[in-house]
Amino acid sequence: MDEKEYVIIGAGIIGSSIARELRKRNIGEVLVIEKEESLGRHASGRNSGVVHSGINQIPGTIKAEMCLRGNKMLREYCKEKGVALNECGTLVVSKTKEEEIILYSILGMGNEAGVKGLRIINKEELNEKEPKINGNKALFSPNGAIVNSRGLLETVVEEAKQLGAEFIFNENVVNIKNRVIITEKNEYKAEHIINCAGLYADKIAHLMGIALDCRIIPFRGEYKELKNAEINSMVYQPPDLRYPFLGVHLTKTIDNKVIAGPNAMLSLGRESYEKQINFEETIEMLETKNFWNLLISREFLKLLSKNAKTSFFDSAFIKEIKNLYPSAKEDDILPYKAGIRAQVVNREGKMIDDMRIYFEKNSTHVLNVVSPGMTSSFAFAEYVINKIKNNALSSN
Ligand SMILES: Cc1cc2nc3c(=O)[nH]c(=O)nc-3n(C[C@H](O)[C@H](O)[C@H](O)COP(=O)(O)OP(=O)(O)OC[C@H]3O[C@@H](n4cnc5c(N)ncnc54)[C@H](O)[C@@H]3O)c2cc1C
Repeated sequence: MDEKEYVIIGAGIIGSSIARELRKRNIGEVLVIEKEESLGRHASGRNSGVVHSGINQIPGTIKAEMCLRGNKMLREYCKEKGVALNECGTLVVSKTKEEEIILYSILGMGNEAGVKGLRIINKEELNEKEPKINGNKALFSPNGAIVNSRGLLETVVEEAKQLGAEFIFNENVVNIKNRVIITEKNEYKAEHIINCAGLYADKIAHLMGIALDCRIIPFRGEYKELKNAEINSMVYQPPDLRYPFLGVHLTKTIDNKVIAGPNAMLSLGRESYEKQINFEETIEMLETKNFWNLLISREFLKLLSKNAKTSFFDSAFIKEIKNLYPSAKEDDILPYKAGIRAQVVNREGKMIDDMRIYFEKNSTHVLNVVSPGMTSSFAFAEYVINKIKNNALSSN
């Protein structure tokens, strides 16, 4: 059996960025195994495409650090490689005194995390930037940008291949025994396994006895297209910092559509993009303490009821949109894609906010890479490889 130094499971933006970085440093042969027949079928091809500037991140977390560095790296990369990018900046808009307090608290968090160029703008400047948006003040972050996320992934994979990484598609990893990765078709041996399986990363980790207290509880993020809307950038409502999800916001996509979303609805299936029920996965979820402990928390019930409304009733979705864009009407919204967040919940039922990475002797497991995972991907790839290398050195 052929043995590689590194076998990466999952060719999303995280696995592919790690493959690219390993080959850039020329520190071993790299094989990436992907279960789908093509790229971008899951989070990396179904996100909002926002290159986040780092506001909203809790200072001192891995997420905050990776987002800040990743933002710069990603923008530079897109310009160098010709990946479509719009450096339009981000606005978080407040309408009331209470929301203004949140605006100032995220300004403080952003400044503490080191986000450059943040400033509060008044109604006149907001009207100039976004005439159709309703608000009294806004936090403006000039480093927010929009990218073609699928184009980015394809470019990264192409470069990783040119640097010598091998990608295999249509192979689902079903078991791992003593550094042998078993797919439905083949077996591969690795010196070091890197688990970047997104929505199934907990299952892969569990096969190796890792992260047994963690479960991914999938949260679908549904979008709507807002017909005939005119915005110039990305416009957010002040976030509810108790939850790891941002509220419904407006984004001008790289192909000039205006999309609203994503909401955050409990998904009865890890890949149930069309709201279908995956009975096997739902029963499996119902059998865990993680789910029941999450379900009994008041905060979660509130989140569920609000998002169930936006998931099933356009009238509730448009109400969220109208908070930002008052002239929007129910007739203006069209169905759009959905993505699913690989949210980790621990046994106590807590939704984990930060990324969870398990560095083991012969394997690394990347869990909870929720937003801003795409923004963070290049910085994160460097971080993971530095850690793997340092751990290997200190164990010799
Ligand atoms: C709705 C939504 C909006 C978001 N918006 C943004 C945003 O605007 N900006 C931002 O920075 N981030 C955003 N994110 C976060 C970002 O998309 C993710 O953090 C990032 O895409 C995660 O990449 P990944 O490679 O870990 O996962 P994925 O893209 O899911 O890749 C994992 C891959 O592993 C494969 N796989 C799984 N199991 C197996 C197996 N057993 N064998 C082989 N292969 C397997 C899957 O097929 C998949 O291709 C958003 C996420 C969502 C869901």
